[in-house]
Amino acid sequence: MMDTVGNKVAKAEIAMIKIVAPNMALKIIDWAIQVYGGAGVSDDTPLAYMWALQRTLRLADGPDEVHRNSLAKLELARHMKLPTDKVQMPITRGA
Ligand SMILES: Cc1cc2nc3c(=O)[nH]c(=O)nc-3n(C[C@H](O)[C@H](O)[C@H](O)COP(=O)(O)OP(=O)(O)OC[C@H]3O[C@@H](n4cnc5c(N)ncnc54)[C@H](O)[C@@H]3O)c2cc1C
Repeated sequence: MMDTVGNKVAKAEIAMIKIVAPNMALKIIDWAIQVYGGAGVSDDTPLAYMWALQRTLRLADGPDEVHRNSLAKLELARHMKLPTDKVQMPITRGA
């Protein structure tokens, strides 16, 4: 969508992805840790490291709450027929 309509039009979808994707990735890594048992949290597998990296992304790219707030404001503006370009988006890397 960013490629076809650009970042500004896709900002709600970008916020959605920034909320859902890191959380889903964390859940999947956590399932993998569970499957591996103790090995999953040891240095024998990269899973604990992957979990820590992914967990960091939920802060480094802006806290989840900030993306949720932005998305809520965009959705409310849309339904109240207010201009969505007045909604201030968080300044994060990429979008
Ligand atoms: C590894 C790493 C790399 C980073 N790289 C960059 C970078 O390249 N560029 C850059 O600009 N920053 C970068 N950051 C900083 C990152 O954007 C901040 O850590 C993040 O915005 C959270 O700010 P904070 O750590 O001051 O925590 P705080 O602002 O104190 O937030 C703590 C918690 O308070 C809550 N909170 C904060 N603000 C709100 C809000 N508006 N609404 C609701 N709840 C809220 C959330 O639960 C949040 O997790 C990086 C951080 C890390 C850990």
